[in-house]
Amino acid sequence: MTRYHVGIDCTDSATLGMCTTYLGAVLLERLKLKAASHPELIRLNPNIPWKTRGNGAVCLRLEGEEGIREEIFRISEQAVKELSVFEDPQTNPGLVVLEGDVPNAVNGFYHRALHEVLDTQEAVRLASNSNALFRGWKNRRGLIGALAAVGAELTDITNEVVVYRSGEDKGPKVVDEASIIKAALEHPSTFFNVSRDGKVLCIPRSPCPVLFGIRGMDPKDALAMASNIDTEGIERWVLWATNQHTDAHIEETRDIRSIRDHSSIRMVAMVSSPPRYERGSHLFFEVDDDRGDSIRCGAYEPTKGFRKELSELIVGDAIRIFGGVRSADNDNPRVVNLEKVEVLSPARKVEITNPPCPRCGAKMGSMGKGQPLRCKGCRHVDPSLKKLEITVMRSIQKGMMEPPEDAWRHLFKPSSLPEVGTIDQSGPYFGNRL
Ligand code: ATP
Repeated sequence: MTRYHVGIDCTDSATLGMCTTYLGAVLLERLKLKAASHPELIRLNPNIPWKTRGNGAVCLRLEGEEGIREEIFRISEQAVKELSVFEDPQTNPGLVVLEGDVPNAVNGFYHRALHEVLDTQEAVRLASNSNALFRGWKNRRGLIGALAAVGAELTDITNEVVVYRSGEDKGPKVVDEASIIKAALEHPSTFFNVSRDGKVLCIPRSPCPVLFGIRGMDPKDALAMASNIDTEGIERWVLWATNQHTDAHIEETRDIRSIRDHSSIRMVAMVSSPPRYERGSHLFFEVDDDRGDSIRCGAYEPTKGFRKELSELIVGDAIRIFGGVRSADNDNPRVVNLEKVEVLSPARKVEITNPPCPRCGAKMGSMGKGQPLRCKGCRHVDPSLKKLEITVMRSIQKGMMEPPEDAWRHLFKPSSLPEVGTIDQSGPYFGNRL
């Protein structure tokens, strides 16, 4: 048996509908081949400068007899032509079909696509050198995501069962939210489907064919949860293995000098300016590295209570920052948009206060710069008394500060991710009935 990898990206439209995962789901059915592993939904660099929703691409890894690469490409190309939203200027589909083992250079391309902004020409060159069949439509940018998805190496895996209606159907989605809330409680290895305050997060409000997507650590449990949801008639479902919520986009960075625009970093630093709100609701502060270089960090309004927690930081706190790097523009310096922060070592917060009077116990007061202290009660003057340093209790402790679920990005790894032992990835991965 020979392995075939089919990567697809950039076929959908945020405003006009469709979803690249739906196209992958339709293609799974049309190709009629055995899967070598669960189909993969791959999230790439969340900081690329053009607007994306989740920067998702898909890869189907299939097994078939030798010599059917052209046939796979023909069927896939037909599906892309039929289902992509070509009229949206942002939609620039890409398709890659690769036979056999994935070359290391293509794996490397995936890892770079998580952290860097890559170039279409490089994707074209690499796909040609890797003996892949490929096609890019319009400006061909989708080839970047399609090739990166083929190169994906999922070490950390989470799962998402995505349930679809027909691509034609644009009316309101009829999915019973109460059944989602109930099912979420009954399937503890699932996560990010309902927020802690009871908001349903798994029904996309866009006109795409996704009715709902159930995220979970254990694929069987996620599937079981999906089957307990009261929904309008479904067309199909797919169990995607994903890099979502694994921090795959985060790179360890030693110092501020080595930070690259549009990457996502994890770095130990020291708070060097007090946090302050700007433009009303966004919080900013500076951090220094041990070379003494500084960078600005920001947490925005949608991160809600996260800003409040961060506002308790003081100069001298040792922290580990996690976030995406936004480049400087004419109006703003470069900023690390914080995704989460780990407090490593809170600084001692001291307050300087006047001592009590040794005679009457009332508070001593200042007589002016360079002058001794004088009691506010009995007027006793005592040149030997000095101001006291008092350690103030702080609300901040060592540990993680994270935004609420509504503000999580697709790759964000929450510290509360449910633990599951050895995950059995066997079992069904697509169908028409739950
Ligand atoms: P989805 O709706 O599936 O979440 P999206 O609408 O957020 O996706 P895409 O349709 O996937 O975004 O479009 C993202 C575009 O950016 C694609 O053309 C893809 O090839 C390209 N792209 C992805 N990663 C990179 C990268 N690291 N560098 C340059 N281009 C990239």
